[in-house]
Amino acid sequence: MIRRHAAVAGLGDAVIVNTCAVTQEAVRQGAQQIRRLRRERPGARVIVTGCAAQVEPQRYAGMAAVDHVIGNVEKMQPGTYRVLAEPSGAPRLMVGDIMAAHDVAEPSGEVLSPIPRAFVQVQNGCNHRCTFCVIPFGRGRSRSVPADDVVTQVRRLVEAGMPEVVLTGVDVTSWGDDLPERPPFGRLVRKVLREVPELARLRLSSIDQAETDAELLAVIAEEPRLMPHLHVSLQSGADLILKRMKRRHSRADAIALCSEVRRRRPDIALGADLIAGFPTETEAHFEDTMSIVDECGLTFLHVFPYSARRDTPAARMPQLPGEVVRERAARLREKGRAVLEDWLVRFTGQTINAALERAGGAELPGRTPQFAQVSIRGVGTGQKAGDVVAVRVTGVDGGRLVAEVAA
Ligand code: SF4
Repeated sequence: MIRRHAAVAGLGDAVIVNTCAVTQEAVRQGAQQIRRLRRERPGARVIVTGCAAQVEPQRYAGMAAVDHVIGNVEKMQPGTYRVLAEPSGAPRLMVGDIMAAHDVAEPSGEVLSPIPRAFVQVQNGCNHRCTFCVIPFGRGRSRSVPADDVVTQVRRLVEAGMPEVVLTGVDVTSWGDDLPERPPFGRLVRKVLREVPELARLRLSSIDQAETDAELLAVIAEEPRLMPHLHVSLQSGADLILKRMKRRHSRADAIALCSEVRRRRPDIALGADLIAGFPTETEAHFEDTMSIVDECGLTFLHVFPYSARRDTPAARMPQLPGEVVRERAARLREKGRAVLEDWLVRFTGQTINAALERAGGAELPGRTPQFAQVSIRGVGTGQKAGDVVAVRVTGVDGGRLVAEVAA
């Protein structure tokens, strides 16, 4: 959508960098990319936007490589690009107060990825204040897309041939809090599946367990088209660290949720975000995080080495040495590789379904319902991306299943 608005305003040649602020490393890489693009395209206008630009606009406005800085709301508005395209002195900074944002941007309807999976944003922003997180300052307060609009978007995608949709948001399970009658997120999931019966597969981006409602648990148990894979925002396995993070769940809550979900949907695969090396984390706290991986039966780990984000409460807490943070993150990632491998091996010899992510080739990537990657041999030329094929798993290689089309 950004590209389209810019092109319509006559800025098709501009370089637009959409920055991320979630970790210090993401910010560093963004700045590096801006400088590289400036060197590669010396005559082009460089426009910087995204969460890092929203959080620290002056930092980017001060860079010689940057011509304009625009905020996360402004980047979605066609008028911004018209102003920037004006020949007489376009402003260097167009960054408004993100906390005043009320709407989620209009969906573009564009599907950019060749993978037949579309992302539908149902919510943006976050009202929580986890002590390590800068996201609310980049995205603003939580706001939801009304259910009927979500259904319309999903229906449009399905009518255009999209077999799989992921409902996304910054804090997706808070969906509905700002809508009349405060419907729970589970009701939206149920409505999408009921009102778009041709949708083959529905997935959810990431859930916050403190916001997991009874309707969501019911729909997980009852709707086979909701794929058996959930990603949970856990962050730590130690109660004291969870408290210092200002999370809204305990270790016991996390374990109880995972076990309840698995009881209702035994084939489900669970993933989680985990932070290693949060300020004041002792070796014993870290061991609690390592052990919650087993107690929750997690399969997919997203491990983040803690990095202090400016102006967050956690940045003012006693920090751990960098090497301790890196070493713990490495151990946790190693644990992640081991649990994934152990889980994948169980599929060897089984015949399972996999959705093709591409067509045409001797060996094709696919995804199982639980979102495991699978490398598939022997796919017929008549198959297209998005089709589901029955495959026999022959082994595991580098964190993915290896399979051939079942006879
Ligand atoms: S709930 Fe998620 S997005 Fe919101 S403050 Fe916490 S970590 Fe950040």
